[in-house]
Amino acid sequence: MTRSQELFAAAQRHIPGGVNSPVRAFRGVGGEPVFFERAEGAYLFDVDGQRYIDYVGSWGPMILGHAHPAVVEAVRERLGMGLSFGAPTELETRMADKVCELVPSMDLVRMVSSGTEATMSALRLARGYTGRDKIVKFEGCYHGHADSLLVKAGSGALTLGEPSSPGVPKALAELTITLRYNDLDQVRDTFAKMGAEIACIIVEPVAGNMNCIPPLPGFLEGLREVCDQYGAVLIFDEVMTGFRVALGGAQGYYGVRPDMTALGKVIGGGMPVGAFGGKREIMSKLAPLGPIYQAGTLSGNPIAMAAGLKTLELISEPGFFDRLSAKVQTLMDGLKERAAQAGVALTTNQVGGMFGIFFTDEQVTNYEQATRCNIQQFKAFFHGMLKRGVYLAPSAFEAGFVSSAHTDEDIQATLAAAAETFAALTAR
Ligand code: PMP
Repeated sequence: MTRSQELFAAAQRHIPGGVNSPVRAFRGVGGEPVFFERAEGAYLFDVDGQRYIDYVGSWGPMILGHAHPAVVEAVRERLGMGLSFGAPTELETRMADKVCELVPSMDLVRMVSSGTEATMSALRLARGYTGRDKIVKFEGCYHGHADSLLVKAGSGALTLGEPSSPGVPKALAELTITLRYNDLDQVRDTFAKMGAEIACIIVEPVAGNMNCIPPLPGFLEGLREVCDQYGAVLIFDEVMTGFRVALGGAQGYYGVRPDMTALGKVIGGGMPVGAFGGKREIMSKLAPLGPIYQAGTLSGNPIAMAAGLKTLELISEPGFFDRLSAKVQTLMDGLKERAAQAGVALTTNQVGGMFGIFFTDEQVTNYEQATRCNIQQFKAFFHGMLKRGVYLAPSAFEAGFVSSAHTDEDIQATLAAAAETFAALTAR
């Protein structure tokens, strides 16, 4: 028995499924999760002494690589000064100023402790601001696990939503309309029928929770137009894409300005942080300025702010995102080439520091297509790479992430592992 197996057995005694977030349990790929001891730069080290090149990066935050010395030092400096005050600190102002400088659509920003809180609060604000209850989201997008957002499409287009988890009240799910990603006609039809009842559209401007799916040209611009026409709030959920696809997020990259933005992951540099913000007119309705309530004991936590601020400072250096994108490009080109050599059908998507690989020969632009890929082949690929010291997301429906700590050698080593794994797939 490996140490990971021992620890997984022990974890299941008192932790549901042995994990504190379901995807960690490896249900998407089979087998048992690896338990990690430490991480440094591009590498994870498991409890059995194995090293992995990491393309999960704690699901996005570790854009500078793990345990970046400057981030660790910034945290260390704050540690002796107290862990939490539940009262204002200068760090929070510096964070708010930096975020609003980097993301010009945000006039005001409120810090929270997770992406789930950020989207949940943005939704409440959009509803309170418009006085409308219905919301529009897209199939395959994930916005955290607030009740209104754990809803899938009903049986036909434009039907009322169905809870995607027991425990989500049907009455609430019925207020959530779930449409096809990248299908602007469906959005226009929906608003033509019930636009006056819809508070907001919430969208991942690059979808990262059905693997990685960028918006088709005109999709985000079309959402902007529809929201303007019907007085609905456009919310970009940039929890994953913010400070990941470009310094100004996906909104900077595509040049579309939302009314509100949810942030998380990179903004906390690996500490538990989220944020939501947007236009002054909307954000001014938030307590204590306005009547719409939202709060948090640990919000704006000084240690988390220190880690986040240092991370934002370092990714603001000129050329950071060009270098990151070039690494992703080398990785994607190399994977496609190795797959073709082995006769494996593979397509890729990428934006900035995030990527998706699909075992199919079509370019994937929506959830339905993502589910049509060869999932069995993905599972075999995942385990083949794991065995060869490369850690990919343990699910075919998650995006991958590259950090600035990944070297050319790391990418070449990954491609060598992929060539062997593709060859093994076709030899089956
Ligand atoms: N929105 C998006 C786009 C996400 O990717 C995630 C998490 N993967 C969330 C919201 C929820 O964030 P958290 O897990 O921090 O609650």
